[in-house]
Formats: sequence, structure tokens, C-alpha cells
Amino acid sequence: MPDSLAADFVPNPMRLLVVEDEKKLAGILKKGLEENGFVVELCFDGEEGLFMAETYSYDAILLDIMLPKMDGLAILKKIRTKQISVPVLMITARGEVDDRIKGLNTGADDYIAKPFDFSELLARLKAVIRRSKSKPSSTIGINDLEIDMNSMTVMRGDREIKLSSTEYKLLEYLALNCGKVISRTELTEHIYDSEFDLDSNVIDVYINYLRNKIDKGRGKRLIRTVRGAGYVLEKE
Ligand code: CA
Repeated sequence: MPDSLAADFVPNPMRLLVVEDEKKLAGILKKGLEENGFVVELCFDGEEGLFMAETYSYDAILLDIMLPKMDGLAILKKIRTKQISVPVLMITARGEVDDRIKGLNTGADDYIAKPFDFSELLARLKAVIRRSKSKPSSTIGINDLEIDMNSMTVMRGDREIKLSSTEYKLLEYLALNCGKVISRTELTEHIYDSEFDLDSNVIDVYINYLRNKIDKGRGKRLIRTVRGAGYVLEKE
């Protein structure tokens, strides 16, 4: 298979998540997409799909609507609430017009109806990825703190703040949930693979590092401890 061999030499292959419970269709999609140079991960139910979408970074997600445990629209809503901007191509059954409209309103980038030609799916998939790559950089601004989520750089005022990747992940998560108290458990789950049963006190240590870098010597502290509940990053 020359296509597959060629794919091995792509320096940064596009990573896709395919959430589809019809195993035969999922298998065909995986094979076809891999032959076109993509790296593909499959999930067969909604809960696993949501977990993967929230945990790993993909260039696009192919998301079926009717899924066991959690449907595609609910997954989409959750990931968009968390500001995960990955392009999503919804897979709908023929005639599910309402679902298509709901999907687009919820933040899907496009949809394709079953049964579809693989070539059409590939064209639409490439189009949503292309559109997402041409979007301007996404930044979060909280007072004089600015986080660039593409370059993963952080500025406070005119000073760049160097963070470790764990500190960055923590800060970005708190910033995306600005004003909301986040528990140590939720922060731990966001930072580490859930397979590690880590003591959530580790979070306190990292929060201290972060405070030293972000807040030390500043008039207004951004990260506040909420006793017995967790941490919150607050706007003035
Ligand atoms: Ca299905």
C-alpha cells in the first residue's frame, strides 16, 4: 500500500478522534483515514469519546450523534463549554435535520449524513481542519494577564512569565474557568492522566509555584484559595 507507506514519512501527521459505535463503519473510517496519512483513534461510546476529547489534543473529531452512554450533541456541548476549539464534523443519520441544526448551533463545524462517500467525508474533514488552522491565535486576557493558547506563552503586564508545562496547564485551566471555583480533584484530573492516583495535595505545591511567578510582588492577586473548596482565578 504505497499510500500508507508515504504516510509514515509525514513529519507531523494530523491526529483524529473518531467516535462511532458502529464498529464496522468505524473500522472502515480508520483504515481509509490512515491510508490518507492521518493518525486515528477510535471510541465506541460517548463517555469514552468525551474523555478522549477533553484529555488529548486532536486536529479534528468525527462525531456520530447516536451513541451509547452519551450522545454526540451532549459531547459537543461539553467540549465547547470547556473552550476546546477542535474542529468537529458531526455524522448524522439521513433525515435527522433537527440534529444537524442543533449540532451546528452547538458548535459543530460541519456535518455529513449517513450513508456517505468516503471521498466526500475526506473533503469535508480537510475543509474544517483548513478553516480551523487559519483562525487567528486564541488568547485569554484577565486583567493584565494574557495567555496565548497557541504558543502557550503567558504575559503579565509587559513581562513574559516562564512556566513549566504543568504550571501552564493549571493556569490555562483556571483561566478558562475564570471566576469559578475549581476543586483540587478536578485540577488533578486535568493535569494528570487519570490512571495515576495522585495525591491532590500535589496541586497545592504547583499552585504555590504558580503564585510565585504570577502574583508575587503584584498588588492584585489573581489566584485565590477557597477554603475547603479549591482555587479560583478572578478578574478584578
Ligand atoms: Ca451511532
